[in-house]
Amino acid sequence: MEIKDLLRECGFRFEKKFGQNFLTDGNLLSAIVSDAGVTAEDTVVEIGAGAGTLTAKLAGSAGRVIAFEIDENLRKPLAAVLGRFGNVETVFGDVMDFSMEEIENMAGGPYKVVANLPYYITTPVIMKFIEQSRRMTSMTVMVQKEVAERLAAKPATKEYGRITVAADFFGGAVYKRTVPRSMFYPAPNVDSAVVRIDRNKRFDADGELFRKVVKSAFAMRRKILSTCLASGLGMSKEKAAALIEMSGHSPSVRGETLSAEDFAVLTNVIKNNM
Ligand code: SAM
Repeated sequence: MEIKDLLRECGFRFEKKFGQNFLTDGNLLSAIVSDAGVTAEDTVVEIGAGAGTLTAKLAGSAGRVIAFEIDENLRKPLAAVLGRFGNVETVFGDVMDFSMEEIENMAGGPYKVVANLPYYITTPVIMKFIEQSRRMTSMTVMVQKEVAERLAAKPATKEYGRITVAADFFGGAVYKRTVPRSMFYPAPNVDSAVVRIDRNKRFDADGELFRKVVKSAFAMRRKILSTCLASGLGMSKEKAAALIEMSGHSPSVRGETLSAEDFAVLTNVIKNNM
């Protein structure tokens, strides 16, 4: 049965507030699973199972799938679509209400996140996983095209920001494919894109201090980095400027020109001289 007919038969009504734009095209769903590089050895965590179309494709390739879904009204269609798979667990609830420890205990080992993310919580979900996860090896997500461009942006561009640096610190984001709005049911107002972020630690720094430094650097985009750091870390502008110079940059540099590696070096200098 067609997904649209199944949803109608189950009396399902789309909830705009949950970002419910579903995918039904089999080729596109297969392409996302292939973008994520899912194999039979993988445990996959999906955020937002919807009508289970991506979940079913994932279940066909992965060892195990844990699929979160906030909307209880999707229980019936999900049971119909996923009933034939013995390797899928559906967890009903808001993924943001689960601690990383709870999610990682469910996964029980390394896992990949694959999701067509609900638009209204794209950034918090991505930040939660790339900043807090210990065992996530990669994250392949469908997001608004503009967010995908931000994730894969280069320093000193207008798209470059805190989320870019966080993704780059985790390992780096790769823009995989553009997906036109017409591929969704119902169609949203913007085009989307698939992005993959792989864990690949190329440089080290205290994670908590790194996040604080980056957050301060982007808190006031028009100000120079020393002003941002002084305000964000509670130190004098002179001290901030001296630390920036010690990390190899001009004291008048702007935060948006620094790469994740530059921020890691700066974080280490700050840590050693606080
Ligand atoms: N994976 C399906 C697909 O590709 O067709 C659905 C994707 S749809 C863009 C996002 C899904 O996430 C919706 O089913 C929505 O109900 C669910 N969702 C929204 N907020 C959520 C949250 N906080 N936690 C878990 N699921 C959520």
